[in-house]
Amino acid sequence: MSASIAQRRAATSVDVGGVLIGGAHPVVVQSMTNTDTADIAATVSQVAQLARSGSELVRITVDRDEAAKAVPHIVEKLRAQGVTVPIVGDFHYIGHKLLSENPAAAQALDKYRINPGNVGFKAKKDRQFGDIIELALKYDKPVRIGVNWGSLDQELLTHLMDENAKATAPLDARQVMHEAIVQSALLSAARAEEIGLGADRIVISAKVSAVQDLISVYSMLARRCSYALHLGLTEAGMGSKGIVASTAAMAVLLQRGIGDTIRVSLTPEPGGDRTLEVKVAQEILQTMGLRSFVPIVAACPGCGRTTSTVFQELARDVETMIRERMPEWRRQYPGVETLNLAVMGCIVNGPGESKHADIGISLPGTGEQPVAPVFIDGKKAMTLRGPNIAAEFKQIVEDYIARRFSGPVAKPETAELVR
Ligand code: SF4
Repeated sequence: MSASIAQRRAATSVDVGGVLIGGAHPVVVQSMTNTDTADIAATVSQVAQLARSGSELVRITVDRDEAAKAVPHIVEKLRAQGVTVPIVGDFHYIGHKLLSENPAAAQALDKYRINPGNVGFKAKKDRQFGDIIELALKYDKPVRIGVNWGSLDQELLTHLMDENAKATAPLDARQVMHEAIVQSALLSAARAEEIGLGADRIVISAKVSAVQDLISVYSMLARRCSYALHLGLTEAGMGSKGIVASTAAMAVLLQRGIGDTIRVSLTPEPGGDRTLEVKVAQEILQTMGLRSFVPIVAACPGCGRTTSTVFQELARDVETMIRERMPEWRRQYPGVETLNLAVMGCIVNGPGESKHADIGISLPGTGEQPVAPVFIDGKKAMTLRGPNIAAEFKQIVEDYIARRFSGPVAKPETAELVR
């Protein structure tokens, strides 16, 4: 039985600085800087990198007065560089104070993110939460109510635990925790609406760090509200673990039509590239068939039939070429992101897989003739041989893109050319 993606859950659409989240709009990719926001140059540089790598919203920490004072300068410098990505301010504990004392920051930001578990305690909590919502109304900004189970509203959790203890059929502690996370988000959103913030100015998130918990919590949220949902596993971790956990959790939810914007919260290696989280988010959406960002390269894993590292090197070279050339291709060749390529290691699956791609190459495996047939639009178009196969194949890709995406689709080549 083949699976298909469920129809997107009907969420209220939210405009964040011109980027639309929810409704029937494509799932939006977002990211967050890890610079000190008070360091204007470093933050501008990283926001620009994230935006150029494809992040459609970028969040920055606004944790103290110096950071809040830096915000309008950061936004101004980005706009001067032509970087138009909406900027979201992340507030904890003193967001109400920072926003009210720094009107230029409140105005420059495109959205405020607040965490109901970190907005204040006891009587102050409602007042400070209300102050931030009033400021969002004053400056006409949307708000993300971002619950995180590492900073869950303890009063609410204790209340639900007490109620559960008295119930005739009590839930287990994990289920109560899920309910507390969901209620924290929904009660805060209801309070924001009471103050006057429309549902079209509210995005909800409820992040946890375990895959099954995330699926449960977001499934509950999707059933109980129509707010736009920001999806993400918090504290996903480093390297492949963070990527796999985020993908496993988000793929299940996206497959069910749940999620309007995503962030992949990876811990970078020391000195590592922050843009990896954008690349992974794009790859999740593209490999699921939800959006197209860059041409996809299908490559076989290689096995005992692979004679050399030529095929691995070619697969890597083609991926690198795509990343490097994409900014220009995107400007010059609309639709190029839908291109499919195949780089295969031998005759077993090489020709078959290559025929399914727009352009595919089947490199010679053990015992095969040292030639590499190239398939274009499903037909064998030429055979490459000799030491320059990689360079020639990359040129074929360039030529194909220029031909197909700069005007009417060219007819597939049918004649076999031997080079
Ligand atoms: S296509 Fe050939 S080299 Fe690649 S995994 Fe399959 S059998 Fe091995």
